[in-house]
Amino acid sequence: CGIVGYIGKRTAIPVLVEGLKKLEYRGYDSAGVAVLDQQKIVVSKSVGKLVALEEELGEDFSQSCIGIGHTRWATHGRPSFVNAHPHSDCKQDFAVVHNGIIENYLELKDKLIEKGHQFVSETDTEVLAHLVEDFYEGDLKEAVRKVLATIRGSYAMVVLSLRDPDKLVAARKDSPMVVGLGDGEFFVASDITAILNYTRKVYILDDGEMVVVTKEEVKITDFEGNPRTKEVFDVKWDA
Ligand code: GLU
Repeated sequence: CGIVGYIGKRTAIPVLVEGLKKLEYRGYDSAGVAVLDQQKIVVSKSVGKLVALEEELGEDFSQSCIGIGHTRWATHGRPSFVNAHPHSDCKQDFAVVHNGIIENYLELKDKLIEKGHQFVSETDTEVLAHLVEDFYEGDLKEAVRKVLATIRGSYAMVVLSLRDPDKLVAARKDSPMVVGLGDGEFFVASDITAILNYTRKVYILDDGEMVVVTKEEVKITDFEGNPRTKEVFDVKWDA
């Protein structure tokens, strides 16, 4: 339902949680964040309101400067702790947040289970994490590209990886996604309001576009990897 991602110089968790709060009006049943913290991905989730996630995180949360967050409106799998996003592969080397529906997830899930993947949730989203892991050969963007060629449905997604750290890879098809441009920091979000406290300069992704975001730059391509040039959109209104 709601997505926020951050990479830059600030501690990610407060940016993610504040961003998700701006998206609360859309409704949700659970929430979660994942950050890349010293050689591991740390995932925190909770059922219910964002205050519950904040309680779960406590005061002593990770100071990582890269992470992804999600508020879930369940479509596949009941609202629950395990079904809340972010979702991961078995080794927790990859974490994914996703809005929308992966239509062919059952068929993909069966194939992945045959290959030895173990699933923990009832969601369609979890196949994305296992698929990225399955396709990964050293380049996160390439792995995500292969996932996009394999799945059917509607999605805005953001992927984070321990094996190819220091970047976020995001993609959209039939579900909104924007990239916020800061100074030495970038944001991805399903809605501009989530990031207006930090920047007014955004790229609005079109369907069939994906993006690789590092601390230094934002690279937008189509799903085949061909570069797309975009105008920076200057947000004039207030949330
Ligand atoms: N289909 C996914 C799920 O049920 C994503 C739902 C959403 O957009 O929040 O977990």
